[in-house]
Order: sequence, then structure tokens, then C-alpha cells
Amino acid sequence: MNETDPDAEIDDLQTELCILQSHLERLIARIRQNDAKLCQFQSLETQLLSLNSLRELVEYVLDDTRTVFELDCVTLALVDPNGKLQQFMQEDGLGLDSLKELILLDSDRTLTQLFGKAFRPYLGAFDSRHGTLFPYSSPPTNIALLPLVRRGELLGALNLGSHDPDRFIIGMATDFLDRLRAILSICLENTLNFELLRRTSFIDTLTGVNNRRFFEQRLGEELGLAQRRNEPIACLFLDIDHFKTVNDTYGHQTGDLVLAEVAAQIRSQLRSNDVLARYGGEEFVALLSTADERRALEVAERIRKRIESSKIVDHNEQPISVTLSIGVSEYTPTPSSALTETDKQRFLELADQALYHAKRAGRNRVHSGGAYPALHEKWVASQS
Ligand code: GH3
Ligand code: MG
Ligand code: MG
Repeated sequence: MNETDPDAEIDDLQTELCILQSHLERLIARIRQNDAKLCQFQSLETQLLSLNSLRELVEYVLDDTRTVFELDCVTLALVDPNGKLQQFMQEDGLGLDSLKELILLDSDRTLTQLFGKAFRPYLGAFDSRHGTLFPYSSPPTNIALLPLVRRGELLGALNLGSHDPDRFIIGMATDFLDRLRAILSICLENTLNFELLRRTSFIDTLTGVNNRRFFEQRLGEELGLAQRRNEPIACLFLDIDHFKTVNDTYGHQTGDLVLAEVAAQIRSQLRSNDVLARYGGEEFVALLSTADERRALEVAERIRKRIESSKIVDHNEQPISVTLSIGVSEYTPTPSSALTETDKQRFLELADQALYHAKRAGRNRVHSGGAYPALHEKWVASQS
């Protein structure tokens, strides 16, 4: 019979206990880590659900997914067949040229080739097929490509990359990724619908330029900006001359065509950040940021000449001549005082009055109402 040494037995037990303890400690550390990750993930989810614009969504997804999942790179590919998304984000001031993590695709071809008809995510090694989604000189070694799908339509893909060869191995648990993909798909669909609605409700369907509702909302914002930057801003009221005669002569349908053409011609003479809206009937209004009265007169004259010399034709190729009368005003900021509703109204009134003068003086001409407040205050005083 073997005699056991009780001291050796105690030593063995202690070693075993130490090993168990260290296992336990590692397990607890892992649980804490996972718990922290879950919290971070939940906060990512909550944030995603509270975003309002496509720009916010793109920026947030690119930044925070990388942090939460501890990745080397994250890109977002969006299917944008008619350039609408690009336009939305540009209008919201997102610099697309410097943001190579955002990939806009003119069709879903690249993605359907990767995901197949069943839109299955891809987890595994990076290879040359994935170059479009990771436009880097040293692409990641392992990647997860998550198709973003809603109602059977492929909206894009969220692409996660890591230089760690143990990440995104085929067969690994993907609960977090599946959930992220589902939530992001819903958020993307909602945001796209919202952006579309937001924009179409501000567009005049006949001419394609903004409508009066949009103008009225932007007027306050633009004047506020001018005030804060201490820069002038100009307003143009543009009205087609004798438009009733155009309708009477060529018919209402041709009148509609002329309206759309005139709007396009005016737009072509403005900068992309100038606001142009159809104010009503055959009257348009434009806001020229940072422009003073002199600059506004130059732009107005350029538009007038353009319309006068433009060759608009009706459905039967019959040429139609139209002219515009334009009234101009400037708002000179007074940084010491707060902007009031009266300021806004008077700034517009000045341009409207100037348009009236241009009409009275014979049409097809530009007239300035001067700068508000200075000149307008004198005008008000002279009326009383
Ligand atoms: P003035 O030089 O004084 O501005 O004369 P005008 O004929 O342009 O102005 P008036 O206000 O007398 O008539 C405006 C016309 O514009 C009458 C209206 O039927 C027409 N109009 C307004 N909205 C539309 C539209 O959406 N389509 C068409 N075809 N005509 C429109
Ligand atoms: Mg008119
Ligand atoms: Mg009119």
C-alpha cells in the first residue's frame, strides 16, 4: 500500500486551487469585459435609433462602430443609383471627397455579387473581390461584410475590417453583428424615407426649385447666419413679365413649360448655396448669401439678360420670348441687435417694392430697393 505524504498532498491541492482561482479570475474579467461591451453596444444602438439625418447616421456609424468593436477600419457602402444620397449629404455639408470610408455605388451589382441572392453576410479573409469596399493601400486581413437589407431591397453594406487574423473567422458566433445589421438596416431605411420626405415637401413640383415654405424657413436661418458672421445678404424678387399673355397666346401647358425653363435658367446663374424658391404663380425669390447690393445688382442683371436672350420653345418648336423684372434688396447686419420678425419682413418688402418699381418703369429691368436697415428706415420715415 502506498503511503501518501500529507504535506505533498496539501501542496498539490494548493497548486490546483491556484490554477482554479486564476481560471476564475480570468472568467470574471471576461464577463466584465463582455458586460462592458454589451453596454457600449446598447448605447451604440440607442444612439443609432435617435439620429435624424443621413449625414449624422453615416458619421456615427463610421466612427462608433470602429470604437465599439475595436476594429482597424469600418466602411459603409450605400447604393445610390440616381445620386440622391450624394446630393442629400452634400446639401448637409458632408465633405464626400475626404471621406473615403463612405462608398457610394451607382448600382447594387457589386454587392449582389458578394452576398448572393440570399444576402448572406461574409466573414473571413480579405481578398481582391473586396477591394471596392476597403479602398486602402494596406487593406485589413480579416473582414465582416454585413448586407443592409429592408423589404428585400439591398440598401448597402457595413464593412468591418481588422488586421487580427483571429477576427471574423467563418463559423464564429455573430449575434452582435446580426443585431447591428438588423438595427442599422431599419435606421437606414427610416432615415432615407425621412430625408426624401423632408426634401420633397420643400420642392415645387412644377419647376423643381424650392417652394415658399422652404424659403420662409431658410430666410430666418440665412439672416441669422449673416448677422453672426457680420456679412451682408441680398434678396431678389423675380417676376415674369406679362405672363398672362404667354398663357393666353400659347396655352396653360406651354405656360407651365416656360415657368420650369425660367426657373432652371435662374438657378443656373446662382451659386449652389444660394436659395431659390418659387414664391407663387410666376414669381421667384432668391437669397444670395454674403452678397451686398452691388453684387446682387450684378447677378440680377446677368439673370435678366440670360432670360431675355434665352431661346425657349414650345412643344411645336415655336420660339417664345419672355422677360423678367427683378427687385433687389440688401440686409446689412447689425450685430449688436437681435434679429426680429420685422427685420425679415422689411428686408423682403424692400425687394418687393423694388420689383414694383421695375414693373412701373417698363418691365424687363432691375431695380434696387437699397439696403435695410439704413435706407429702408428713411423710406418708412418719408411715408409717414
Ligand atoms: P406682370 O408683368 O405685371 O407681372 O404681368 P403678368 O401677366 O405676368 O401678371 P399677372 O399677375 O396679371 O398674371 C400672372 C399670370 O400667371 C396669371 C396666372 O394664370 C399665371 N400663372 C400663375 N401660376 C401659373 C402656373 O402654375 N402655370 C401657368 N401656366 N400659369 C400660371
Ligand atoms: Mg408677372
Ligand atoms: Mg406676379
